[in-house]
Amino acid sequence: MDKIKINFLGTAAQIPTAKRNTSGILITYKNENILVDCGEGIQRQFRKAKINLGKITRILLTHKHGDHVFGLSGLLSTLNFSDYRKTLYIYCPKGMKKFLEDFLKAGKFEENYSLKIQEVSGKFFETEDFYLEAEKMEHGTPTNAYNFIIKNKLRIDKKKLAKAKIPSGPLLSKIQQGKNVTYEGKYF
Ligand SMILES: [Zn+2]
Repeated sequence: MDKIKINFLGTAAQIPTAKRNTSGILITYKNENILVDCGEGIQRQFRKAKINLGKITRILLTHKHGDHVFGLSGLLSTLNFSDYRKTLYIYCPKGMKKFLEDFLKAGKFEENYSLKIQEVSGKFFETEDFYLEAEKMEHGTPTNAYNFIIKNKLRIDKKKLAKAKIPSGPLLSKIQQGKNVTYEGKYF
């Protein structure tokens, strides 16, 4: 099974410290590199972590407070100067898109890549392996929490399953949850 890699690029609260950046978490799974929030200084954090900025596929913004978004215009500027030529998706809470568009006008260059900003709630992105969900939070300004959910796939040794002749159905989901089951007098 493919592993999820999580890089904590920024874990300070409102103010960066010498050792901790404002918000930014990178979730890497399969071909996706999803950045959650984009605090000031995020580019340096990528460099320190030796991760190429061009790998970013999506950015999830929780809300518009500066410690979560001030890194965005610098990041986009760098992507524009580099060879980033794919579509970058930025997701944000309902009521934030206009702010974001105005904010990104500052220092804006002609874009060499495609930028798509979407206000989201509920399930908003899905692949065959995982999906993303947004849930509204209370924080004095439109705010989302995000769920990254890997779809439920059987993580059971198929050879052992065949040997034990256990039929598919509710027993399998119990085994997957790590529970012990009894089938035809045998204990698994
Ligand atoms: Zn805030």
